[in-house]
Amino acid sequence: MTFTLTIDEPRWDESVRRSAKKYPDVVPVIKGNGYGFGRGRLAALATRLGMDTVAVGTGAEVASVRMEFRGSIVVLAPLTLADLRRPAPEADYLIHTVSHADVVRRLAQPDSPSPAIILELDSPVHRHGVTLSELPGLAAPLRQVRLAGFAMHLPSGGDRPKVLDSVHEALHALRKAGIEVDTFWVSHLSVKEQAAVQALEPGLRIRPRVGTDLWLADRSTFTVTGTVLDVHRTPHKEAVGYRQRRVSGGSLVVVSGGTAHGVGLYTSSARTGWQEVLKSVALGAVRGAGWSPSPFHWAGHRLHFADVAHMQVSMLVVPAGVAPPQVGDQLTCDVRMTVSTFDEVVISSSKPVAS
Ligand SMILES: *Cc1c(COP(=O)(O)O)cnc(C)c1O
Repeated sequence: MTFTLTIDEPRWDESVRRSAKKYPDVVPVIKGNGYGFGRGRLAALATRLGMDTVAVGTGAEVASVRMEFRGSIVVLAPLTLADLRRPAPEADYLIHTVSHADVVRRLAQPDSPSPAIILELDSPVHRHGVTLSELPGLAAPLRQVRLAGFAMHLPSGGDRPKVLDSVHEALHALRKAGIEVDTFWVSHLSVKEQAAVQALEPGLRIRPRVGTDLWLADRSTFTVTGTVLDVHRTPHKEAVGYRQRRVSGGSLVVVSGGTAHGVGLYTSSARTGWQEVLKSVALGAVRGAGWSPSPFHWAGHRLHFADVAHMQVSMLVVPAGVAPPQVGDQLTCDVRMTVSTFDEVVISSSKPVAS
């Protein structure tokens, strides 16, 4: 009973390698569930690709990445004053993010620990970061810390010329405050946008922090499948599931893959196109049931949930007129990788199972 990720490893490696080449000086981001692959697997690939630096989301993620990667590790979560009060091992491969002026001032004191830091600046995202008006006051303390550069975590959408302006404004404000900038770490600039900033800032070392566009660059290099565990013919108007909703006939399929795997926490993948949505709506409308679309596919159909997703399985409806799968068959599942957990990861070099 497995919910399985099958990776066509040579092709996946190659897709990540190709994507990494497009971003000069890229810093792979390895965080959370490791974009579905697991942090260790991503760290091992970063090693195979010869990366010098990767970024993790939180300090708790460092150890799992360090086991497979020996270069520098940037911690994206900002260091707090509370963190500095705890005795923390000061590993020289770690680079911490700082996004508060009082943390910079604390680190500038002679009795302070002296980790390498990146100062994060406020951006249009407004998640973390010191504001540009705080910079003049930080020029002196910044000379007393081990500074590895400045960072901006930018939005991935929105008004792009405005986003690029915010980068140039920040660089201008730094220089106006008498602060030298040699390395600038950015998130969510496209390859083209990075080139545009680089053209105006020829002396600047820009280091893009990229996750999704690396690991998930080519979805055809991996497949997610759930195993069919049970198939029942259902009479018209039979009540089924925890919710005891009535189905309009056809077959009820029980497949591995539930909320514990990240299935059913959402109704569709982030990458579902409008055609897919229309198809689901049409399928639902035909049966007049209004079931929500599931991420599982069978025989070219996106199947609908017959019940809320259970913890480890989902109950799906295969409409009358479509031959149902059999116990043991695999249904492809269009998951959001950043929220998915798998029972098993299979490494293959054959072509992935088609739906
Ligand atoms: C998660 C994260 C990234 C990577 O984001 P993707 O959209 O997966 O490329 C980059 N920078 C920061 C600060 C992040 O938190």
